[in-house]
Amino acid sequence: MKNTGLDKILGRIEDLDSVNLGILVQRLARERKMQETVFNTIHDGILVIDTDGVVQYANDAACGMIGLKKSDVGVVRLWKMVPDLARSLNAEEVNSRQKAKPVLSRELELSYPEHRFVRLYMVPIDTHVGHDDSGGYVVVLSDVTEEKVSMEEMIENERTSSIVRLAAGVAHELGNPLNSLTIHLQLIERKLRKLGLGAEGEKLSESLRVCQGEVDRLDAIITHFLEAVRPREPELNELDLLELVEEVLRVQEVELSDRKLDVNVEVSHSLPTILGDRGQIKQVFFNIIKNAMEAMAPGGHIRILTRSDDDYVYLQFIDTGSGISDEDLSKVFQAYYTTKREGHGLGMMIVQRIMRDHGGQIGIESRKGIGTIITLQFPQQHRRTRLLESSSGMTKK
Ligand code: ADP
Ligand code: MG
Repeated sequence: MKNTGLDKILGRIEDLDSVNLGILVQRLARERKMQETVFNTIHDGILVIDTDGVVQYANDAACGMIGLKKSDVGVVRLWKMVPDLARSLNAEEVNSRQKAKPVLSRELELSYPEHRFVRLYMVPIDTHVGHDDSGGYVVVLSDVTEEKVSMEEMIENERTSSIVRLAAGVAHELGNPLNSLTIHLQLIERKLRKLGLGAEGEKLSESLRVCQGEVDRLDAIITHFLEAVRPREPELNELDLLELVEEVLRVQEVELSDRKLDVNVEVSHSLPTILGDRGQIKQVFFNIIKNAMEAMAPGGHIRILTRSDDDYVYLQFIDTGSGISDEDLSKVFQAYYTTKREGHGLGMMIVQRIMRDHGGQIGIESRKGIGTIITLQFPQQHRRTRLLESSSGMTKK
């Protein structure tokens, strides 16, 4: 909208007589009405909140999604309407000391007024919002309930569809010949060295190394594919998350030091245990730390922070890597999305799947060139037990 004419008039507002002032007010009211109409026709929820979280504007869709009344605008804090959001944001407070506020992206499960899945984007703005001058956020809420349900259905279909089962079977069968290839390539390599063929031998060795490289690549493709199409039911045990983090870090120790990266696990108090599948949770940590390593240059570091409240345990992985642009952030969880030459693009999808299977959530926020923060939210054991009890109660009925 072109506002330069309006700006000019506003600049000379003291010179206006009452007639012109009236016209101006009418014009402003018309423009406001039009903008409101536009915002109210949008399906996405749009909110503006000030730095205290008080909702200063909400379009119709936003009101419907979070059960906000028009009379709540200017009074109610967004955190109060969406407590889950408050929880996942609190986890970030730890690093909100950084000057520039990051763009946040979260997937939230709302239970009021309806059960919905909502994707939330929070973009900081520095124009005057509310009663002070400290800026605020524009919050965009997209209803992804259908998308999510159909995604889950799709996975469900995929899981049972014969073609995927066939592919998984074939992939699994490929494991044995690949192993055998590896063994024989090693035998040839050893023989070759014994024969001492000089430069010719070197050339052959090089070819063998290429073969082995390709065999390894095939093996990795198959492993990742199988993990993605054959998710197992988690086998629940009482887990100490920090102990698992340490275990995973030990596995990755060599790669970390080769890449000249360091890791700090910052623990201030003991963490409550959770119920989870040991192997799957380790896979989550492994994939996240691996991505962080791959995003960083030598000298980079990873911080791992922990926190808990009455219901959840939070783990944050903060890296000083390349970061992800706002438009790519939403693609990170898609199958086969990768920006790496040797990437499979399944790691984060698997992480998300495992977190969901555990009744948990994953949040990601990132700034290009600065780094990425991954937040994991695990329900605490008592909460999870309650959930399990209530769902098994339901099936019995
Ligand atoms: P892959 O690692 O095989 O590419 P993933 O599913 O693990 O697949 O990740 C998908 C993409 O998300 C990566 O290619 C990368 O572009 C981006 N990504 C994930 N984690 C990070 C991170 N910590 N820093 C920067 N980019 C990341
Ligand atoms: Mg990865």
